[in-house]
Amino acid sequence: MPECLFCKIISGDIPAKKAYDDDQILAFHDINPQAPVHILIIPKKHIPTVGNLEDPDYVVVGKMIKVAKTLAAENNITASGFRLVFNNNKDAGQVVFHLHLHLLGGRKFTWPPG
Ligand code: 5GP
Ligand code: ZN
Repeated sequence: MPECLFCKIISGDIPAKKAYDDDQILAFHDINPQAPVHILIIPKKHIPTVGNLEDPDYVVVGKMIKVAKTLAAENNITASGFRLVFNNNKDAGQVVFHLHLHLLGGRKFTWPPG
């Protein structure tokens, strides 16, 4: 069994409420949502942070943004607004070291972020 929490979600060892699934990408609802819509979009390839991305990976990162766009539309937050966030390493508060794009929406956010 893989050690990484999100690899365990990909393998099905840990359950998650899925929002999107294909051969390269999985999206699922965050277990501790910070907004009415809070979905995590992850590559099925284990990549710890943005800092670990290599040239071929940018294709899947582009597809993650496409999935975010589709899920924003499905959740009716395209016009009202949404935030896409990659937390990277400790100053950003990254907790799970498997690349994930947060899709957050359904409420008003402040800037700068905390
Ligand atoms: P990070 O701070 O690393 O950017 O965010 C990790 C996110 O993963 C957090 O928002 C946290 O709530 C979410 N999370 C942690 N464990 C689980 C889990 O087992 N299932 C789901 N669906 N989300 C999780
Ligand atoms: Zn992983």
